[in-house]
Amino acid sequence: MQNNLVIYNSLSRKKEPFKPLHPPFVGLYVCGPTVYSDAHLGHARPAVTFDLLYRYLTHLEYKVRYVRNITDVGHLENDADEGEDKIEKKARLEHLEPMEVVQKYLNNYLRNMDQLNVLHPSIEPRASGHIIEQQELIKEILEKGYAYEVNGSVYFDVEKYNKKYKYGKLSGRILEELQSSIRTLEGQEEKKNPFDFALWKKAAPEHLMRWPSPWSEGFPGWHLECSAMSTKYLGDVFDIHGGGMDLLFPHHECEIAQSTAAKGKESVRYWMHNNMITINGQKMARSLGNFITLDHLFSGKHELLKQAYSPMTIRFFLLQAHYRGTIDFSNEALQAAEKGFQKLMKAIETLNRLKPSQSSTMDSASLKNKCYEAMDDDLNTPILLSHLFEGVRYINSAADGSEKLTGTDIEELKNLMSTFVLYILGLKDEAAGAGDEKLTGDLMKIIIGLRQDAKNRKEWAMSDKIREDLKNAGINLKDLKDGAEWERE
Ligand code: ZN
Repeated sequence: MQNNLVIYNSLSRKKEPFKPLHPPFVGLYVCGPTVYSDAHLGHARPAVTFDLLYRYLTHLEYKVRYVRNITDVGHLENDADEGEDKIEKKARLEHLEPMEVVQKYLNNYLRNMDQLNVLHPSIEPRASGHIIEQQELIKEILEKGYAYEVNGSVYFDVEKYNKKYKYGKLSGRILEELQSSIRTLEGQEEKKNPFDFALWKKAAPEHLMRWPSPWSEGFPGWHLECSAMSTKYLGDVFDIHGGGMDLLFPHHECEIAQSTAAKGKESVRYWMHNNMITINGQKMARSLGNFITLDHLFSGKHELLKQAYSPMTIRFFLLQAHYRGTIDFSNEALQAAEKGFQKLMKAIETLNRLKPSQSSTMDSASLKNKCYEAMDDDLNTPILLSHLFEGVRYINSAADGSEKLTGTDIEELKNLMSTFVLYILGLKDEAAGAGDEKLTGDLMKIIIGLRQDAKNRKEWAMSDKIREDLKNAGINLKDLKDGAEWERE
């Protein structure tokens, strides 16, 4: 199988031709959410970025096994293995079981991802469902001599690992630097060095999420789950590992160290990282009052929002920037994205009504190649969109009669739009769903009218049958003085 795709590998810090290990199969692992709060823009960006990659690889006819994990245990409040488990803390605040917290916010996340038209991964494994695999990996690392046990906890020995394999390959942070920059926090005295990280933590008596292990009753360190689950589902060596740039250090650096220590070789061939989103130039944080969830954006209910923004506007907004560039969120930028998205959708609608001419005054044939070139160049969606908008100009000029397109050109443009806009970029016409709703409303009016006619003729059996049939179809009728109301069950 051939492709011209070039992707930026964070490990080599350069663009490399993408050559999968076992074509046509591609293994893709992406760090998913820690589910303890409503999904926000920071969740949407990696989800849409790797959805784009997944869609493009699938379009190129690769068989992609896409694994995106769900972190439901072990992610502590700070990266130095201290603080409460994020999920457990939320459970305490909301008086819920930790797994209720997970389910609640996972439901929210998955609903938002569906709204953003993000395709479902092939496997969504949970950390808590892979405790045994994580313990086995700890045993392997202990056997190889790169971890040590203290008081029931197990830590990764970064200094020892660094002597054989270089630590810091991905982030470029060298041990000497870390040594001087990391301060020793309270409760860290168990570790040989402050930059060592936990593989297993002994649970304090009040800690809820705990499992038996050879070392203590406790829980796995956060970095471990991704090493254990990627190996389980994609093998010791696999093609692409993705995630947000904020995970590069320490999370991904620690993943590399764990897998290399256990298996003696690196497990990931291409590391890909999406950049972050700022809000009016600032980092998004609860403490800054600029924490906007996806539900806020879709409903417009947040003091920083001038209006509601539809899921496709948000998706278009994210795709307008290259995934490795930063994005700054503002109402103005989102309003511009909304306009751009609607212009694109309108052109697709116009395209379906275009009348072919005998000859063409525009060259639409070269557009397709340009679109592939843009995607092949490390998923360059801003350039792709500029080519698609060239197509929009052709369509609008043909519609107002200032230029001409032949039937072949029109077919080619239709093909281009359905391939790149609808499938690869994953944008869809939101008005189409609204149209279905309107049609349903109109049809229900007709049905209620027919039932009223039957009642007027005292055909009670017919009137009851209509009500029963609607009920079986999931629609409840409520009789009013004149006519009836309906609602979905
Ligand atoms: Zn991860």
